[in-house]
This record gives sequence, structure tokens and C-alpha cells, in this order.
Amino acid sequence: MSKCEICGEPMPPGEEMFKFHGYSSQCPKPPLPIPPTVNWKERAEAAEQRVAALESGYARELSIHAELQQKLTGYKEAFQREHAMRLLEAQIKAAPEPLYVVFDGPPSHDAGRFVEVETIDGKGVSVGKWEEQVDGLWRLGPFYASPTAPEQEPKP
Ligand SMILES: [Zn+2]
Repeated sequence: MSKCEICGEPMPPGEEMFKFHGYSSQCPKPPLPIPPTVNWKERAEAAEQRVAALESGYARELSIHAELQQKLTGYKEAFQREHAMRLLEAQIKAAPEPLYVVFDGPPSHDAGRFVEVETIDGKGVSVGKWEEQVDGLWRLGPFYASPTAPEQEPKP
């Protein structure tokens, strides 16, 4: 049903094609209140403010995210360093201690006499035991070669 655009009442039968009363009669009612005009400028400004608030919130989230990411990277690096340190400590603990057989002179026909077996820093250690062999020679031992011991330098 068509309505009059001035008063809002239905148009009388046969006049539905018109936009407002006036052909057969005047408007039966006073004109409709004029709808408040939309303040587009205000709306646009409010929308801009909302967009700005969202953007600043997003920027803040981004910066928090970046900060957390940086912390996480720091933790990962610290964890890796500690892991590497523990591995190194374990390797040091597992590494065989180098030992030296000490004589009081250089090798020759009249070889130096055996003094002791020492650690790298000169502490005497008790390793193996002296035994007389059936051939009359004496031996000290046993010593065990370790597969992780550093390779001997080739002789010149
Ligand atoms: Zn009317």
C-alpha cells in the first residue's frame, strides 16, 4: 500500500499512484516530523576515532608480540648455551686423563730410570703394578688405551 510522503497516511483508493495527498483532498494529518538530518561529519570523525583506536591497539599488540618474541629468542639462546656447556662438562668428565711415564733421563742405551707415572700437572698417580715376567724382564701395568684419547703425533 502506498503512503503519502507528507503525512504518512495511506493514499485513498484510486490515488495510490500519487506521492502525496492533494488531488482529491488535503492531508488528513499534520505533516510528519522531519527526520533529524544525519551529521555525516560527526559520524566520519567518530569512525576515524574508532579506526585510530583500533590501529593503536593493534600497534601495541604488535610491539608486545615483538617483545615476547625477543624474550623467547633470548631464553632459547640461554637454553642452548647451557645445554652446550653441560655437554662440554660431560665430555670433560668422560675424557680420559692424560698420564705420563717419567724417567730421570732421555732414552738411550743407558736409559733413564723410571721415576713415576704423573698426571699432566705433575701429580704422581698409582697405576698398575710391577710384575716380573717369565723372561726376567719387568712390566708395569696394565694400562688401557681409550678410543677417545687424542691421536699420537706421527713421529718425524
Ligand atoms: Zn497526506
